[in-house]
Parts: sequence; structure tokens; C-alpha cells
Amino acid sequence: MNHPERYRGEEVVVLGLARSGVAVAKLFADCGAVVTVNDKKERSLCPEADELAALGISVLCGGHPDTLIHPGVKLVVKNPGIPYSIEPVRQALRLGIEVVTEVEVASYICEAPIIGITGSNGKTTTTTWVGLMLDEAGLRPIVAGNIGRALCEAAMEATGANRMVVELSSFQLKGTVHFRPSIACLLNVCETHLDYHGTMEDYIASKAKIFANQTEQDVAVLNWDDAVCRGIAPTVKARLVPFSMKERLARGVYMEPPLASADEALTKSHRIVYKDEAGGETVVLPAKQLGIPGKHNAGNALAAVAVAIAAGAGLEPIRKALREFRGVEHRLEFVEEKDGIAYYNNSKATNWSATIADLQSFDKPIVLIAGGKDRGSEFTPLLPYLKRSVKAVVAIGETRDKFARLAKEAGISLVKTVDTGSSAAETLEQAVRDARSFAGPGDVVLLSPACASWDMFESYEIRGRMFKESVHKL
Ligand code: ADP
Repeated sequence: MNHPERYRGEEVVVLGLARSGVAVAKLFADCGAVVTVNDKKERSLCPEADELAALGISVLCGGHPDTLIHPGVKLVVKNPGIPYSIEPVRQALRLGIEVVTEVEVASYICEAPIIGITGSNGKTTTTTWVGLMLDEAGLRPIVAGNIGRALCEAAMEATGANRMVVELSSFQLKGTVHFRPSIACLLNVCETHLDYHGTMEDYIASKAKIFANQTEQDVAVLNWDDAVCRGIAPTVKARLVPFSMKERLARGVYMEPPLASADEALTKSHRIVYKDEAGGETVVLPAKQLGIPGKHNAGNALAAVAVAIAAGAGLEPIRKALREFRGVEHRLEFVEEKDGIAYYNNSKATNWSATIADLQSFDKPIVLIAGGKDRGSEFTPLLPYLKRSVKAVVAIGETRDKFARLAKEAGISLVKTVDTGSSAAETLEQAVRDARSFAGPGDVVLLSPACASWDMFESYEIRGRMFKESVHKL
């Protein structure tokens, strides 16, 4: 680990005692900084507090003391989910103190080259896939960030022989200043997280920060089919490696033959092609051999191939991982088939763009269970896809009425809103029973909420697991 000597003896404040806060606090303590960790939760709800206190870290719980941020503080490290509007953050910014997220600090100490992957959708899938490819290639990847382990913790053990494969959210990237991945990948950008970012401009600017400190020695992998990604491309200083489902690129990774429209399905003849800078073409794999279904996942595969090649993986290990990857839980996850009806859990579809991708993944009629936390998005982009693929909608959560209205607008007559007024589990069980009553043999029942889960559930994982249990109980 490269020690950030500049923090020895300096005062550092860590806001938020979650996984990443604990990791960065320990790192700073290890570097000889004077660390204060603060969380608005009561100490009894912060199980990590005692362990940190034993390391000599000052732990302040149950609110934000007025004296927390003062001119002597050198750096504030904020949990990515904490908004910039809370008083300690505002105070730090007023005093000109740098406010960053944990990934920024991790990048100072990480000896391994950092491969950063971001986007509105597909981050976890693509990050996991890249990790498998590099593992097959013997490049000793460590997968961390928004997925699994905190980057600080992983960075403390990484050496130059590893590759750090990092999933990055817009919240994490917004809090970066000098962060510079040697390979950065932007998968796509759609309207989401407006409740946090306020405007699309702020959200896009946060995503674009993944490229901000790159130089011509670095690589930038970008989705050439996405208008926002293309808009960012001219500002990128790194070597561009685009990927596309729709264009035969002069260099990069693309689907051959290119898809003429968003509705065109992949066939037996489609294959993933890599074109190097000299124009040499290599067929990487027929698309039909990919280990996971869904056209959006073929797009994720293009990105993963571009990243893995840039990281130095050979084509054979890449091919093996493309074939053998079976996807991640809660992402278009097959649950079971009952009475000819196939049940799929895509609880991780937390915005409309992800749900559109799901609706395009089946050539069977879909009974859709959707709705959840209202994050300020309208769902109108879903309309044509509802019209084309969905035979019935069961709407749950805060947005259930919005969804029911949209379904009716799409001409769907089988629409039900479910609110049992009791527990989330019972509501979801009822929704699954209603979905089954609308479905027939050959249909798909799909949980793809297009919304976050927090209105009813603690997390999308819990929503997905409850859905699976409800299906098993049918
Ligand atoms: P993230 O980590 O960005 O949330 P995941 O890989 O967990 O991404 O996928 C979340 C959901 O987004 C999936 O269940 C799927 O519905 C959808 N999705 C995945 N990849 C894409 C993509 N490239 N384009 C659109 N939607 C996608």
C-alpha cells in the first residue's frame, strides 16, 4: 500500500459509519491521522463504533455536533449516500475543506492499477464479468467498490501484481477530485437518482468524472450507442475504445452484423467482434454462446471485452468467462417454472431503463410486477414496451397508482394495484398470487419494479428474496 504521508497528524472527519466509512477510518488511523467518525444514528445502532474507538478513533454518534467541522480539519470523507445539503458538509464546503468519498482516498494508496466501471445500469454485471475474465487470464483481480468490499479495505491489501476492478456509483464519483483509473468504462446514462442529484446535468457530470483525470496513457471505454456517452467523448483525454451494438466501428468492440433498430433481436449469426487500432478484426464469440440472456447483457459483454482486452487479458480466457458467467442474483434471475409459467426476479431493476431492458429480453407475454419508491421519475418511456410485451400489470409500492395509470394508457386491461395495508411480505405475496391469476402457460411473470425498494423493503435484495419465497409458496 502507498501510504498517504500527507495525512500524518492531520485532522480527518469521516461522515457515516457504514462499510466504507469504517474502512476509510481504519486506513486513516493506520496512516497516523487524527480521525473523528460521526454518524447521526445512536451509538447503540452503530455496532462498529467500539472497534474503531479501540483504535484511538473518536466516534461521535447520535447527531452532528456543531464543533465537528472547524478550520483545523484537513479533509472530510463523506459516505456516498449522504447528501451535500446536510450541515457538516455545507460547513466544510464553506470553509474550503475538501469533501471526498472513500474511493478518492483509496486511489491514493492503491498499488494496483484501477479499472473503474460506472453507468446507470449494468455496473455489477459488467464488473463481475470483467473480474471473471481477468481471473481466467491470471491477472489476479480484486473486485470492490459499490459491489462487495469497500475499495479502501481492498486497496490496503492490493499490490502492483493485482488489478483492482471497481464498480463506481455516481454518488461515489461526485466525491472525487484526483481519482484516476487507468481504465475507465461508462456503460450508459439514463434518468435516475434525481432525488439525490437534483438535475440530470449534475448526474451526468458526476458520471463523467470517471474520465476527468485520465491522460493519453489511460483507456476510456464508452458506449457508442448512448447519446450521453457520445456527448462526453470529446472531453476525454484517454485513448477511446468505444463499444456498440449498432455500428461497425473503426476500432473497439461491436456486434456483427450491427443491429438496425432497438427492437431487432440477436440471432444465430450475431457475433462479438474486436477491432484493434491497426484495424485488425477478431471474432471474439458468437452472441448465442453468451452465458446470460438479454440483449442488454450482450451490450454489457461488449463493454467487458473492451475493458478486459485493455487490461491485458488474452482472448481465450475472455471467451471462457463470456460462456461460463451465469449472472448475478436479482438480475434477470430465473426462479422457477410452475404450470408452464416462468417466474423471473429482477428486483435490481430500480429505474425504468432497466425495466425496458428486461421487457426486451423475452419473446413471450409478460405479467409485470412493478412499482416502489418514487424517486421523481416519470415512467412514460416504458409505454411502447408495455404495449408491445406486457399482458398484465400488478402495481405495488408508492408508485402503484402511477403505474396503474400508465398500464391503462398502454391499453392493458388486466391491471391490479396491491396494498394489503399489512407487511411488505404479505403485499408481495398477494402481488405474486395476482400475477399468477393473470398468467397462462407460456407466459412470464417478471418482477422488474423500475423503482427503488426502500418504500416497502430494506433493500432490493430483500425484495428479491421475498419475491422468490412468494413464488416458491404458490
Ligand atoms: P447496476 O449495478 O448498474 O445496478 P446491474 O448489473 O446490477 O447494474 O443490473 C441492474 C439491472 O439493470 C438489471 O437487472 C437489468 O434489468 C438492468 N441492466 C443491466 N445491464 C443493463 C444495460 N446495459 N442496459 C440497460 N439495463 C441494464
